[in-house]
Amino acid sequence: MNRMFIFYLLALAAIALAQEQQVKTLAVQFDSVNTLVRDNEIDKAQALKKLQDILPELQTAYNKLKPDEAKKEKWIFPIEGYTSKNIGGTRGEGYIPSGYDYFDGNKHGGHPAHDIFIHDKNQDCKDDRTGRFVNVRSVSSGIVVALEKQWDKASSLRGGKYIYIYSPNDNALFYYAHNNEVLVNVGQIINEGDTIATVGRTGLNAFKKRSPTHLHFMKLELDDKFYPKPADTYRDLL
Ligand SMILES: [Zn+2]
Repeated sequence: MNRMFIFYLLALAAIALAQEQQVKTLAVQFDSVNTLVRDNEIDKAQALKKLQDILPELQTAYNKLKPDEAKKEKWIFPIEGYTSKNIGGTRGEGYIPSGYDYFDGNKHGGHPAHDIFIHDKNQDCKDDRTGRFVNVRSVSSGIVVALEKQWDKASSLRGGKYIYIYSPNDNALFYYAHNNEVLVNVGQIINEGDTIATVGRTGLNAFKKRSPTHLHFMKLELDDKFYPKPADTYRDLL
């Protein structure tokens, strides 16, 4: 190998590393804004302005790293070993978008999501049939932009241990809540189908005995102003 070629390879590696670092930095920024929104500690307009600063830059940085990624045609079901039969409600009626606003944080109304239930009669978060924890999988490729790994029974946080994944190709944020354990980190680049967590019972209501163990799965589509708006994923999950 001649010296010029080695320099060229090193330069490419350095560029890739810098881009990965930029994705991470932006994801960490998103996570901070999301935490402020969650805890109702930031004004709505100010929070939206921050998303408008962060997300386009993140999209550009991601596309440089993953230029060949295309919008997926087929979804990976978000719980391994389960199907759309395990979605709560009949024909997806568990999805109630009215009253929901992302910027209301932990105080939001509505239920713009689908709850997907696992077989867990004794509520130990393990599948009754296998005795094992159940994997939560990412339906999309993208970047982990927010998460919470800590939760205890005294917390009023409704999502418990949650994950937000930003998918530039779907122009959306995907939210996975009530996890038992979060297995990814902020800034991590995810492929569709990757295991990101295990199904759990964390969260103010999800922890209560009357609540069967489930994953709360939500898609927020970003409009042209990067305002996250709920979208019904029932057909995609089918
Ligand atoms: Zn739910």
